[in-house]
Amino acid sequence: QAAILEVRGLRVTYPSRGGRGPARAVDGVDLTVDAGEIVALIGESGCGKSTLARALVGLVKPTSGEVHYRGTGLRYSNSALKRYRRHAQLVLQDPAGALNPRQNVFDLVAEGPRLHGLTSDLNVRVRDALALAGLRPPEHFLSRFPHELSGGQQQRVVIAGALALEPSLIVADEPVASLDASVRGEILRLILNLRNDLGLSALVVSHDLGLAWNIADRVAVMYLGRIVELGSVEEVLLRPKHPYTRALLSVLPDTVADRAPILLSGEPPEPTSIAPGCRFHPRCPVAGALTADDPRLQLCRGRELPVISGGGRRESLVACHLATETEPAPMVGSSAEA
Ligand code: SF4
Ligand code: MG
Repeated sequence: QAAILEVRGLRVTYPSRGGRGPARAVDGVDLTVDAGEIVALIGESGCGKSTLARALVGLVKPTSGEVHYRGTGLRYSNSALKRYRRHAQLVLQDPAGALNPRQNVFDLVAEGPRLHGLTSDLNVRVRDALALAGLRPPEHFLSRFPHELSGGQQQRVVIAGALALEPSLIVADEPVASLDASVRGEILRLILNLRNDLGLSALVVSHDLGLAWNIADRVAVMYLGRIVELGSVEEVLLRPKHPYTRALLSVLPDTVADRAPILLSGEPPEPTSIAPGCRFHPRCPVAGALTADDPRLQLCRGRELPVISGGGRRESLVACHLATETEPAPMVGSSAEA
């Protein structure tokens, strides 16, 4: 398996604002996406996943660390970035906001190819992209405007716009969050089919761990700027080891409800004030159950686990001192497996 994308020690820090300290939005991430692989990046809002997604497609320049595309480090000149973005396309949550309401479908999908000078075969390119995105027959859609399309069709137009550049990688930030529940599965299936038929790689960002079950090969769980658990979808969803992953899973509606939801205490995290030690410790139910004099609590409070080295290839990761001491895993229920 060749890596399409490899991220090493990536950090994105935003400057202080309004009396608050600098925000360490992405705070040391190693991650690999292989050719033809779908990786789900899961976390709550504010955990840095959208910033990481933007850094992966070159829209945000990392404060430190590296993004490698097919083994070559990304450079941040305008021309290098423009070339890179042909290969790595970002798809956002809200298709209505992403589509210019005054442009028809042909012009919307043709925008990327025009920008990149790919105009000699533009008609074929646009039609092929629409067909790949499931808008068939393409002729039926070319002269329509966004308001004449359903939310699902709008998202397909956005995806067609990405596909028109024949990318190797799609980074999709909450691609189904703004859609009706009835069409979410269709869009996820589309991403899955693009991988199966074209060998496209995808990084799909979501707050929904259940979504990972439906499309991902591997899952990365992000908390406050770091990946805290990484592994195959079976490992992470059926045998989660990190207390944070376990808490996220326990509140999924599909989780077999023979155990109580693990409710997290404390405020939602802010990347301007990251606790020393394990960054999850202020909210961690496992640490919270330890007595004050328990030496294991000193580990939780005192020592941060290192960033994984070697680019986080294949091997799984659990950034928890007490990972092996947590309870057996909840099971994902039948409706999530559909
Ligand atoms: Fe919880 Fe400690 Fe593990 Fe952090 S290291 S997740 S605080 S048990
Ligand atoms: Mg976001």
